[in-house]
Amino acid sequence: MNAGHSGIGMTSLRTRDRLVARLREEGIRNPAVLEAIREVPRHLFVDEALASRAYEDTALPIGFGQTISQPYIVALMTEAVLAEGSPQSVLEVGTGSGYQAVVLSRLVPKVYSVERHAKLLQRSRQLFRELRIYNIKTNLSDGSWGWPGHAPYDAIVVTAAPLEVPQALLEQLADGGRLVIPVGDRGGQELRVITRNGYRFEESHLAWVSFVPLVPGRS
Ligand code: SAH
Repeated sequence: MNAGHSGIGMTSLRTRDRLVARLREEGIRNPAVLEAIREVPRHLFVDEALASRAYEDTALPIGFGQTISQPYIVALMTEAVLAEGSPQSVLEVGTGSGYQAVVLSRLVPKVYSVERHAKLLQRSRQLFRELRIYNIKTNLSDGSWGWPGHAPYDAIVVTAAPLEVPQALLEQLADGGRLVIPVGDRGGQELRVITRNGYRFEESHLAWVSFVPLVPGRS
């Protein structure tokens, strides 16, 4: 490690252990999820100027008016993905910094992630290469339409909030699959888990959250 790098210290195991301990206190129980959060170097997903805050349990700006989600929310959504069975494929809507995708990539064999913003996607793709992560496939597109080419998915995780659940995402869920999605306006959203059973969809409440809006179209 280059001692001149401003991230030094922030990357230390102790700093990451503190974050994991905090998530555990907040109710995250799945050991595989906690381990993934411990292992993924979150400081690489934020601006160097913010690296010192990367292991705080807080959302941070990633440019273009977007944010990297709070680790607790990433952990909560990932736990929901893994809650039943062992999902083989997951679709993420809103790649952003790539952090959530990388956490998922350690727990699910195939990760697909779509992003509408070309520059953000370019940056996260570069990071996946640098980290030698090869099980994340990405696409520049409006995620309201999902990614039909690789459907059905055992789980879909949406990291930007629509006003209503997009029909296409429900259709791209495998039987027994789970959609984890924040729904609502900027004032605050409900994080829901929607499980598909044949043609029936069962909804449950997970948390109150605050995501950036899901914006239609490409940038
Ligand atoms: N999962 C990200 C969080 C990103 S913030 C992370 O771990 O960093 C939400 C992201 O959703 C932003 O990058 C935003 O550009 C993207 N987004 C918003 N609307 C979208 C849409 N319709 N389709 C795809 N991505 C979208």
